[in-house]
Amino acid sequence: MVNSPLSSYRGRLAPSPTGLLHLGHARTFWVAQDRARAAGGSLLLRNDDLDTARCRPEFVTAMIEDLRWFGLDWAEPMITQSARIPLYRAALAQLHAAGCLYPCTCSRRDVQQSATAPHENTDEPRYPGTCRPENLPPTSPLKPHASPSPGDGVNWRFRVPDGESLAFTDGCSGPQTAVAGRDFGDFLVWRKDDAPSYQLACVVDDAAMGITEVVRGADLRLSTFRQLLLFRALGLPAPAFYHCELMLDEKGVRLAKRHDALALRTLREQGRTPEEIRAEWK
Ligand code: GLU
Ligand code: ZN
Repeated sequence: MVNSPLSSYRGRLAPSPTGLLHLGHARTFWVAQDRARAAGGSLLLRNDDLDTARCRPEFVTAMIEDLRWFGLDWAEPMITQSARIPLYRAALAQLHAAGCLYPCTCSRRDVQQSATAPHENTDEPRYPGTCRPENLPPTSPLKPHASPSPGDGVNWRFRVPDGESLAFTDGCSGPQTAVAGRDFGDFLVWRKDDAPSYQLACVVDDAAMGITEVVRGADLRLSTFRQLLLFRALGLPAPAFYHCELMLDEKGVRLAKRHDALALRTLREQGRTPEEIRAEWK
């Protein structure tokens, strides 16, 4: 299926190699593969390895092995985000030239302490606008018009259009709306440790890879609104979105990579088979 698509559908699997893949990933990826197959399209694999503090090469090897064991199949070659920094840097420059960005020196801790509660507990705290140019004290060393440059040591944030209502139709759960500046705030596109944010890299790659539908977990549903703003600001067409409901454990807690008991690897070692696991989802 993957090498001779009958349609223009292009999907992707985009795991982050920060730990072992668990049952929740497997279910989302299975849905992604199902949708690509049903549409007669193709499926790509993207290694979202930009978080250098948490990603490990051994998790890349493990994730490929576990995906294959589970019965997933994709068109080679795998795309690796850490090899694509110049593309993200070009998008950063484009956004800055369009007046969409401002520099920010807040730490993650500053934002957590001053922010109002996030929209959902799966989302990041809403940025309070401390470094928006109009909020800076005259003595501030920040220069909003300076261009982003490697090693400038500041974060770059996307200024969201306050009060604008945004909408998309989720292929899984129907119409979704959010208000920029209320449901989410100005978000990072580049971090002061000189790495692109997930939001920026994801948008640049989904466009460059020609993805027509993004299938992923519902924890990223609110991020879709951020990404729609980026697609628009970059003049890129946005794909369709399908957010799968998250899997909960027996206590109703969201599965995360720390649930090692539910890692695909552990299940395999216990002699479980993918067929048997999938049968339980029916
Ligand atoms: N790599 C991201 C994650 O594992 C998902 C990115 C996406 O599907 O957009 O959370
Ligand atoms: Zn700031």
